[in-house]
Amino acid sequence: MIFDSLLGMFSVDMGIDLGTCNTLVCVKGEGVVLNEPSVVAVRRGTNQVLRHGNAVGHVAKEMLGRTPGSISAIRPLKDGVIADFDITEAMLGYFIRKVHGRSRFVKPRVVIAVPSGITAVEKRAVYNSAERAGARRVYLVEEPMAAGIGAGLPIGEATASMIVDVGGGTTEVAIMSLADIGVVQSIRVAGDEMDAAIIGYMRRKYDLMVGLQTAENIKIEIGSIMPLEEEMAKEVRGRDIVGGLPRQCVVTSNEIRDALSEPVGQIIECVMRTLENAEPELAADLVENGIHLAGGGALLRGLDMRLAEATGLEVNLVDDPLSCVARGTSVYLENLLAWKETMESDADEY
Ligand code: ADP
Ligand code: MG
Repeated sequence: MIFDSLLGMFSVDMGIDLGTCNTLVCVKGEGVVLNEPSVVAVRRGTNQVLRHGNAVGHVAKEMLGRTPGSISAIRPLKDGVIADFDITEAMLGYFIRKVHGRSRFVKPRVVIAVPSGITAVEKRAVYNSAERAGARRVYLVEEPMAAGIGAGLPIGEATASMIVDVGGGTTEVAIMSLADIGVVQSIRVAGDEMDAAIIGYMRRKYDLMVGLQTAENIKIEIGSIMPLEEEMAKEVRGRDIVGGLPRQCVVTSNEIRDALSEPVGQIIECVMRTLENAEPELAADLVENGIHLAGGGALLRGLDMRLAEATGLEVNLVDDPLSCVARGTSVYLENLLAWKETMESDADEY
């Protein structure tokens, strides 16, 4: 144990939020040091990662939807499950090396937050990927726990805490107490589905094909769930479906609210279902403690109000919802010695 902490002085232990949209890496004492899209550019039809070193993260995301014929940009975790093990490994390896540097001779210990819905096989894949990518020891923690810790909730205590994490590929809803997850529901409806709903709306209503990036920008800039004090409008460019030529039109926040109602309805339903499955004592605690909303989707205007309306509970937006899970993993790092007995860290378990 002392030996382990000595080694720690020569390596950079890190906490990783391996998200479907974004990967964040935290280093003890330094906070978030890397924040990049979970995207990898590969040669089309293969899982060969492009060689020029920077085909991962920001650079690869720029390529999404506008890649030349021979290249495709892939999000290996898109639906909260690992769609491609090799590409996930390449991505994780790239991020770990980027933070750790190649020169250090002691390998890092790594805490990774994984979606609570992933299977034992997938856990094992993350575990092995991180080891092959250069980790000395790997600890997996469940994302809702990390989110709860990152948000400063009393998840170790005998009272219920509830996290609703609306990410890119999945929404995870969990009720926790005594450092354990009581009820958890995960659905594959989150930010990506909202973007897809906007694309569908633009096609139906305006005969306009818009790209994923454009749809995401529309959502972030004028997306909302509840009527706004001042409704907004945005100019949108795309390709006309009928004529095939580039064209632009103007959409309003009211229209986008319509477009988003279907995916948002499913998220609300998932929250309600989780509440219905909670033990009565835990449900009673939530009347006092409320719900905490995390993940990038939490930033959608009015989602907190809509959830509060539907559940009758208080809904709090956590500080900096996009980095909440990553900050939670770094709290795990700080307590590694004390907590490691309770964390999954042996590949044989999976
Ligand atoms: P993951 O944990 O799955 O990687 P994140 O928590 O990083 O996901 O959230 C990414 C999602 O949040 C994306 O779908 C993105 O479009 C969405 N998002 C980011 N900022 C906003 C915003 N201001 N309003 C609405 N959605 C947002
Ligand atoms: Mg996440």
